[in-house]
Amino acid sequence: MSEKSVERLKCLIIGSGPAGYTAAIYASRANLSPVLYTGKEPGGQLTITNDVENYPGYPEGIMGPQMMEDFKNQALRFGTDIRYELIEKVDFTGPVHKIWSETGHEIHADAVIIATGASARWLGLESEQKLMNKGVSACAVCDGFFFRGQEVAIVGAGDTAAEEATYLAKLCKKVHLLVRRDEMRASKIMQDRVMNTPNLEVHWNTETEEILGTDGVEGIRVVNNKSGEKSTLDVTGFFVAIGHKPNTEMFEGWIDMEENKYIKTVPGRSFTNVEGVFACGDAQDHVYRQAVTAAGTGCMAALDAERYLSEKGII
Ligand code: NDP
Repeated sequence: MSEKSVERLKCLIIGSGPAGYTAAIYASRANLSPVLYTGKEPGGQLTITNDVENYPGYPEGIMGPQMMEDFKNQALRFGTDIRYELIEKVDFTGPVHKIWSETGHEIHADAVIIATGASARWLGLESEQKLMNKGVSACAVCDGFFFRGQEVAIVGAGDTAAEEATYLAKLCKKVHLLVRRDEMRASKIMQDRVMNTPNLEVHWNTETEEILGTDGVEGIRVVNNKSGEKSTLDVTGFFVAIGHKPNTEMFEGWIDMEENKYIKTVPGRSFTNVEGVFACGDAQDHVYRQAVTAAGTGCMAALDAERYLSEKGII
């Protein structure tokens, strides 16, 4: 690549969920002239949800994709340069950070804000894909409310599944927890909570074969992987809680991560182990994972980047 095509930036933001766009709003207003690369899924995980009813400031609720459109427009209003491209590679060796987009465009940035988010893991069934947002969801806290008084199923056996199953049990008439083995990996206390919830039934050694329905969930067909016995559960909601995967692969080897590949940040701050590289949102938070918390950490990352650039005499 010739020197000519290298672009020099003060602040690059990678990712376009609530964290990335909030960082962009703050960075633009602080005159950092940020460039934001949206990645493959502009707007992030919220674009695959329906109504968002728990984001403060929207008393009537808002559709996830519309909310992300609002975030984007607010960033654009203050001059963020938004590019609908993927960042593919980074090199954080020097004080100036090198980044390459999927088209090979090379960027040198003083500050980099990582807001690449996480992706829910799915079972991989065709019917799951077809009925996504039509009764299939990966977020009980976001969508459980729409199934109040109804019968639902949830797949998973970790802390998330246990937590979400008990959360759903408070809203729903009955919850079926589908566990693929004969034990759960959730913590003991969460398992106790599951076992002590009267309207929550655990189905051991149970896998989902198909989600039934055309425009909404009308039931699921499950199979016991020990006996081979098949049965149908009459549920109207189907939740998947089999873990999330942070979108952090390209930072491996550069940025310190937890065992589960979430980026390590200094507690209460957005600093990573690399000076001038900040992380926010679901790429570094596997605990809260809410739009509002992601937006909050996006703000923190932009403020930390601004202070860093100012201390270095760059702005
Ligand atoms: P985990 O990776 O811990 O658990 C995923 C679960 O999904 C496993 O039980 C796994 O089953 C199951 N699973 C995976 N693939 C399939 C499949 N195809 N079909 C059926 N089941 C499947 O993810 P979590 O999101 O639960 O937790 C992530 C991390 O966050 C953990 O460290 C957890 O402790 C933590 N956490 C903590 C909370 C808290 O402290 N309050 C709350 C929520 C999460 P198997 O066991 O058979 O592999």
